[in-house]
Amino acid sequence: MKAVRRFTVRAGLPEPLRELGTLATNLRWTWHPPTQELFAAIDQGIWQRVGDPLRLLAEVPANRLEQLATDGEFLARADALSRDLRDYLTGDRWYQHRRAELAGHGAEGNGRADRMPSSIAYFSMEFGVTEALPNYSGGLGVLAGDHLKAASDLGVPLIGVGLLYRSGYFRQSLSLDGWQVEHYPVIDPNGLPLEPLTEPSGAPILVHVAMPGGRVLRARIWQARVGRVPLLLLDSDVDGNDDDLRGVTDRLYGGDQNHRIRQEILAGIGGVRAVRTYCELTGHAQPEVFHTNEGHAGFLGLERLRELMSGQNLSFDEALSAVRAGTVFTTHTPVPAGIDRFPVDLVQHYFGDGALLPDVDFRRVLGLGAEDNPGMFNMAHMGLRLAQRANGVSKLHGEVSRDMFGALWPGFDTAEVPITSVTNGVHGPTWTAREVTESIGEPGETHLADVSDSALWNLRCELRRRLVGEVRRRVRDAWLQRGASPLELAWTDTVFDPDVLTVGFARRVPTYKRLTLMLRDQERLRHLLLHSERPVQLVVAGKSHPADDGGKALIQQIVKFADDPSVRHRIAFLPDYDMSMARYLYWGCDVWLNNPTRPLEACGTSGMKAALNGGLNLSIRDGWWDEFYDGSNGWAIPTADGVGDPLRRDDLEAAALYELLGSQVAPLFYDRTDGVPAQWLAMVRHTLDSLGPRVQASRMVQEYVESAYKPAATAVELAHAEDYRAARELASYRDRLGGAWPHVRVTHCELDLHGAPVLGERVRVRASVDLAGLSPADVVVQVVVGRVTDNDELYDVVTVPMSPAEDGAYAAEVPLPHTGTLGATARVLPRHELLASPAELGRVVVAG
Ligand SMILES: *Cc1c(COP(=O)(O)O)cnc(C)c1O
Repeated sequence: MKAVRRFTVRAGLPEPLRELGTLATNLRWTWHPPTQELFAAIDQGIWQRVGDPLRLLAEVPANRLEQLATDGEFLARADALSRDLRDYLTGDRWYQHRRAELAGHGAEGNGRADRMPSSIAYFSMEFGVTEALPNYSGGLGVLAGDHLKAASDLGVPLIGVGLLYRSGYFRQSLSLDGWQVEHYPVIDPNGLPLEPLTEPSGAPILVHVAMPGGRVLRARIWQARVGRVPLLLLDSDVDGNDDDLRGVTDRLYGGDQNHRIRQEILAGIGGVRAVRTYCELTGHAQPEVFHTNEGHAGFLGLERLRELMSGQNLSFDEALSAVRAGTVFTTHTPVPAGIDRFPVDLVQHYFGDGALLPDVDFRRVLGLGAEDNPGMFNMAHMGLRLAQRANGVSKLHGEVSRDMFGALWPGFDTAEVPITSVTNGVHGPTWTAREVTESIGEPGETHLADVSDSALWNLRCELRRRLVGEVRRRVRDAWLQRGASPLELAWTDTVFDPDVLTVGFARRVPTYKRLTLMLRDQERLRHLLLHSERPVQLVVAGKSHPADDGGKALIQQIVKFADDPSVRHRIAFLPDYDMSMARYLYWGCDVWLNNPTRPLEACGTSGMKAALNGGLNLSIRDGWWDEFYDGSNGWAIPTADGVGDPLRRDDLEAAALYELLGSQVAPLFYDRTDGVPAQWLAMVRHTLDSLGPRVQASRMVQEYVESAYKPAATAVELAHAEDYRAARELASYRDRLGGAWPHVRVTHCELDLHGAPVLGERVRVRASVDLAGLSPADVVVQVVVGRVTDNDELYDVVTVPMSPAEDGAYAAEVPLPHTGTLGATARVLPRHELLASPAELGRVVVAG
């Protein structure tokens, strides 16, 4: 019989155990081992199986709960933990201390006080907080989850905003011949750590978004509690929605462009409405800063434009100045093909009739998403045009992004494009094995020097042993799923060896990640796996996008190789990579392998999680590894950057990988003195010591606070002050600039040179400028000095502002920055107090 409806009945807890409900619904338990232990103590067996307090409470027999309700020791433990949680939720943390410190500085009165925002909204299409709330597909979601957790630990007043998908992720299994098969488990929000936002009457609060043809898309708002951070998730599966609209939040990244734009409209526009409602209802401060995690949620900026235009009577451009001041945009893709784009017709369909965003001129909306192809609307371009601050997610990715989006700032060198970088990080308490923290201490306060080599080695061996147990269990389950009989699976009890060098490779499988690079020369791989003294074992996992048959074919190649009885004890493909499997891999692998095509990995974070546990990275110098590799914390696989033929490049890089594994990695691992690999452990120590603190999401969130949230909040305060004076002025300034700029000229530029100057000597530069009616206060005039190429292109430049001289010209003294052949020029740039960078408006006039 098939059920026509599913629903979940929550356990009624005996009164003395009421606090368990709070401990179970606040997701802080996911990174707080003492709370996990409390729940495990209720019923070890159920805990082992479900690993989720809410499900445990739903399954545990009522008489066990009654027994615990009279167990003084248990009640005392629960009470202590719930007090600990309350302290965690309400006490001052880093952010509050930092704010007090800045308030102290502000009182000294030097310059405009930096403002720490009282609230920040963080929008993302996916959030991977825990497997108990499956609402993510991969790295982007896990990163967003880690961002919330670290913000909570630091006391940063963040509100997360996204969608709740009926099938938030898919489960992967394999067919007999190794082809990926997807299942879409359906969630019931009532059984998850979520509460609906309701009116005081108990009626669910609905967000409304207009759809074409006079229809309305409604969504409920579910709240998850991620420590101190509320996470609001919109759900369109509500009574009153037309059937097709009920399905808007059915699947993450499922469906066609039409489905996707509806999801993004709900996340962005509905998301802002949900935050507004949440803040009104709870008294939480309204966000000053909006952070768009990737372009998908970019419509949020349009809703804020509408709010200001309808509510404050600002023009589009005035509102744009204010919205930009408070928006931070993070881009995650280094490939144009990875960018979210919609046909203009589709955007017209949803926005064109004006019902969705009354008062906002649709043509201006189109302008925000304009790109080279006039038929397409580009979400990343809109993200950049709506955000005054933008960043990539590693240093290298920052460079790639400045290059990729440079055309939006014509006339500027790539280095000046106003896209910075904040390198991703991972949430230590989530991803570090408890035993590691217990043995060596918290990141940044480790006492590694007191840990002997043999203790450190025992720790690593224990983590590897646990992984091997997990591999055996999963290999067996996978074969049962593929149709094997238990009778033929005895061999799975002995796959993998707890003493063999263990290499992990797990990730989604878009082409650029090169899942099958290791198979380029199958004989060499076989040789490494089966080496008589220094064998390697390889655990592989990864999901392909359901629509990507190319990715599925790559998985099949790995599976076919690993199915071979002569190697299957040394290589395994584990289906259904997710957070619960990932944990074992990050804990137990000795080496974490990553071999993307450089520079297509924006950051990558799985290697960071391995490093936290003493795993060594063996990776192409891409993303974070390009920046953090230091020669002794792992290995860099050399890249064949210049080689145009991709197959030849793969051959070269695969050969380099085999070479490193066989002649450096394995020998070091198996070089033992008194049973311990001393040189290997030296690298493990160095990794834990030097990478441990730097790969933390807390470091990342602190950087966002200092370099983005704080300046954005300061700019917002300025933009909003005195009835939006600065925002209005910036709009009229942009308008004036638009008229005058085509006529602005640097008419003359000369250097006061006598003979051959020496390095560091100050040279006087003069320039004459025609401001075409602008006032000197409207512009910055700069001299630019640097090296020159054969055709006089400047590079390695320094810029020095010039001051108006008596005769109406501009002058500056410039210390010469380099030896050799130099060049110089002068240029004019816009100046306004609300601009974050002189490149911001994409306007510059250069001499000549
Ligand atoms: C960390 C993580 C990722 C991201 O890993 P990359 O190195 O960015 O590919 C993906 N999935 C899960 C489950 C993770 O924990």
